[in-house]
Amino acid sequence: MMSFIMKLPCGSDAEFDYAAGHGYRCTSCNAVVGSVGMPSRCKSQINKYDVLKALGSSIRWNYETGQEVDVSH
Ligand SMILES: [Zn+2]
Repeated sequence: MMSFIMKLPCGSDAEFDYAAGHGYRCTSCNAVVGSVGMPSRCKSQINKYDVLKALGSSIRWNYETGQEVDVSH
């Protein structure tokens, strides 16, 4: 089975949570990505891109490559 590794903006990786059957779990803090259990250190990095988007920025985070992408071009 192919396991997709999510590359988080905080520098950690997240793997699919096969035990739960859904969601991704951070390999460094073991919290489910996007859950309230995520440490602010991880979460704030993800939230940053939501804020940028809300402000009209074209900068997004690519979870596949682990890099910022500018979607305006
Ligand atoms: Zn983490």
